Amino acid sequence: MLQLDSLSKNFGGLPALSQVSFTVPEAKLTALIGPNGAGKSTLIHCITGVLPSSDGSIFFKDQEITGLSAHQISQLGISRTFQNLRLFPRLDVLNNVLTGLTNQGGTSMLMAMLRLPYLRHRERQLKLKALEALDRFELGEKASWPAEVLAYGDKKRVELARAIVGKPDLLLLDEPVAGLNSQETAAVGEQLKMLRRKGHTILLVEHDMELVMDIADQVVVLDSGRCIAIGTPEEVRKNPLVLEAYLGKMEATA
Ligand code: ADP
Ligand code: MG
Repeated sequence: MLQLDSLSKNFGGLPALSQVSFTVPEAKLTALIGPNGAGKSTLIHCITGVLPSSDGSIFFKDQEITGLSAHQISQLGISRTFQNLRLFPRLDVLNNVLTGLTNQGGTSMLMAMLRLPYLRHRERQLKLKALEALDRFELGEKASWPAEVLAYGDKKRVELARAIVGKPDLLLLDEPVAGLNSQETAAVGEQLKMLRRKGHTILLVEHDMELVMDIADQVVVLDSGRCIAIGTPEEVRKNPLVLEAYLGKMEATA
């Protein structure tokens, strides 16, 4: 589904990603783990065209997408959430989720003003889809609330609803449960499992190792911008390089 070939990214000469290569197989959940500053978010930004990569190539369904704009990439069927929330604070929850559908023939302002019957029908369909996505995360009742008044955990889940509403082929999730309580984490974990069962392809950046071990088919480990291990959760857990990367960082911050 997704293939990274020797992908590198520098910030002012400092490498954040160095020749990272791995594939994300279709209909599987791949977890991307690694200590803080390993380059996980940078990798997601490069895949989605939010940041230009410095070197290497990215292929999505055998098409090279390196250098395409974020808009073009999302139109190809890749959607994402951000580690730091990016909702429209004044917009209500439903409309925030609807922005996840605007690539799919959402109506332009002019067309909306003309209010053709077809468009009204289409608008209703889109709203129903958005409500359905919100219901999955038990947020249907808050559809008319401005996003800014929601609790943090709800905001995270609105982002998830927005990311899945367009039924993307590839879903990139940057720490979707960070800051959620254990009950919320378990609920989101169940949703991710369900998406995975339905055949969605997911790349999940996550710190919660328990969750990763529970739901990942494949784990990719980044450390200081390098890919240091790829394998099943079991294989990666036992890998001495991985233990060292995590323990080393813990000692350094202790
Ligand atoms: P992670 O998500 O794994 O915690 P990041 O991808 O956020 O790591 O960061 C990787 C490295 O790149 C860090 O050293 C970070 O300081 C650096 N970095 C990230 N974004 C920028 C930026 N916009 N400008 C300069 N350096 C950055
Ligand atoms: Mg990050």
